[in-house]
Amino acid sequence: MTDKEIIDIYKKHNALLKGHFLLSSGLHSDTYLQSALVMQYPIIAENIISELVKKIYHMNFVTVVSPAIGGIRFGYELARLLKKRSIFTERTNGAMSLRRGFHLEENEKVLVAEDVVTTGKSTKECINVIEESKAEVVGITSLVDRSDGKLDFGVPFFPLIKVNVKTYSPDSCPLCNEGITLEKPGSRNEK
Ligand SMILES: [Zn+2]
Repeated sequence: MTDKEIIDIYKKHNALLKGHFLLSSGLHSDTYLQSALVMQYPIIAENIISELVKKIYHMNFVTVVSPAIGGIRFGYELARLLKKRSIFTERTNGAMSLRRGFHLEENEKVLVAEDVVTTGKSTKECINVIEESKAEVVGITSLVDRSDGKLDFGVPFFPLIKVNVKTYSPDSCPLCNEGITLEKPGSRNEK
């Protein structure tokens, strides 16, 4: 499956939207990716994530950790295909943490799985939680990398596809200047 074929799947399921969007990072964008619309079909999730498995099968880890909510189903399916464990971090009063009795052992090798990486904020907060547990982050993966190659997590990063989209700070957004209505799609408040 090529990158274009995967992007076409996103488009087919209205998971790649064009317009004027407020991202969870606070930035405005001309594109919004909603991986949940692709991930709602387990067979499609399996097909897409099987492509990612080809890139990361060599990595040595025992647990996939995903930042909630966007990363949960991705991380679960990835762990299922690789026969690993899947857990997630979530926010309580804004702070990311492991809840529900989820526990990481000291030196446990962990792969972090996020659905869409833009600024890397959620991913880095997830990494902090793992490191506070004294577990070891061996790599990062995402369905979509829209960071434009600007991020350095200090460990290898394996995105399935890269999508270059335009993002703007709210005070210098040309879409705002054009008076286009700002949309806030998805479940970003919960994230
Ligand atoms: Zn704007």
